[in-house]
Amino acid sequence: MSLTVYNTITRKKEPFEPVTPGKVGIYLCGPTVYKPSHVGHAVGPIIFDAIKRYLVYSGYDVTWVVNITDVDDKLIIEAANQGTTTMELAERVTVDYLDAMKALYVEGIDLMPKASEHIGDIIDIIKRLEAKNIAYAVEGDVYFDVTKDDDYGKLSNRSLEDQEGQRELQSGEKRNPGDFALWKAAKPEEPEEVKFDSPWGKGRPGWHIECSAMAMRYLGDTFDIHGGGLDLIFPHHENEIAQSESCTDKPFAKYWMHNGLTRFNTKKVAKSDASPEMQEALVKMTLHNLLDTYPGELIRYFILSTQYRRPIEYSEAEIAGRRKGLDTFYRLFERVERITGSSAYDKATEIGAPQADASSSFSSTALSDSCDEYLQTFIRSMNDDFNTAGAIAALFDFAGTVNRFIEEEKLETTGSDASKQDALLATGKLISVSRLIGIFLEPQAKKSASDDGVADQAMQVLIKIRQHLRKKKDFETSDLIRDLLTEQKITLEDRPDGTIWRAE
Ligand SMILES: [Zn+2]
Repeated sequence: MSLTVYNTITRKKEPFEPVTPGKVGIYLCGPTVYKPSHVGHAVGPIIFDAIKRYLVYSGYDVTWVVNITDVDDKLIIEAANQGTTTMELAERVTVDYLDAMKALYVEGIDLMPKASEHIGDIIDIIKRLEAKNIAYAVEGDVYFDVTKDDDYGKLSNRSLEDQEGQRELQSGEKRNPGDFALWKAAKPEEPEEVKFDSPWGKGRPGWHIECSAMAMRYLGDTFDIHGGGLDLIFPHHENEIAQSESCTDKPFAKYWMHNGLTRFNTKKVAKSDASPEMQEALVKMTLHNLLDTYPGELIRYFILSTQYRRPIEYSEAEIAGRRKGLDTFYRLFERVERITGSSAYDKATEIGAPQADASSSFSSTALSDSCDEYLQTFIRSMNDDFNTAGAIAALFDFAGTVNRFIEEEKLETTGSDASKQDALLATGKLISVSRLIGIFLEPQAKKSASDDGVADQAMQVLIKIRQHLRKKKDFETSDLIRDLLTEQKITLEDRPDGTIWRAE
């Protein structure tokens, strides 16, 4: 049951064998920090955070690098628009990005190097390329000569001829239309802070070379996994490979992993009851706004519910659907807490240790065996190219089994203490397994209306009135209360030990 990874460069799933046994280096292209991130910027970090957690669990020593692009045309333009410096803008947007990462439980990034702090490394690579006659300078600009790289196009599977057809008009200074900039000469109107000294005069690096330099600085000439969105395959990643491998004569990244992009599904929207205004607002939302609207755990769960190579259908209806899924788990956690008086979160172990608790402490062998089976199913899914969607499906089945156990053993009324402890232990294991992809790391605060103590007090009054009516056999009025609440998306659940409410 070994790990396989789909490699964009070979277009197939391959057994995962790191360059250095036991160690894994991951480089993920990070944000260009010129404007607030949107949901698309969260996809890669969430996926790779789950991947890193799983690799650590699998016994690897993982180093994960996500760069910050703080030298870029877009940043210069936006800073000028806002009347600020590129550094101030970059810092502000970076803080916003890091806040969002924290809210999304993206905790595994080891290094976040900034392009502006690696100009020396960048110049060094360009000089080596120039010495090999693969790069050439024209009036302060330096270009990479794609015709000097025999296997240029191997990642995106394009020939030079294909690319030329798609290129814009050739710059007069370039030798070939497909040549790309490694270094850009400073323009007089640009701010001083982006004019770096170099052997070719003042200027700044191109975007592609920034990633090559930072990846090689922290992970070595050859490392294991290079990730990014599908939209980065060409030209960004193609050019990273070309520069890096031409410079070192060694392979750059061994596995290229590309995540699907978020897309807005209009068909699904038509079926949902969300208003068009709400849909439009959703598409425009920054990550920051999104996290004001939805809990970070829901966004993370939403992204991980799709296998990473597939597109993520992004709509209000999809998020609402995922919320229902997540609520299934929350309800089980609440149910077990009500039955046992203990939180299953306290029974869960930290990442990497689900097998470590003593299974023998189960009194039900059948339930204990089920727990082990679900862990194995989860692992099988993750080993199949990090299929988090399959892993989450296993968690669902796991929750279903614990719920069935609670019902069969009548734990809400007469069940034995031993069985209650079993339910608690199994739920703790479910949480432990979920943590391998960074879900259920901490108990979630009660959502929406129930956050508000006054709302809860009012609901308790309504629940008491309804109970009173039912005792008097006035079912018409008691049902009316329930129906009116349902219209407001508030659900009442009658349980043997009382009625609880929840707002959607
Ligand atoms: Zn990059």
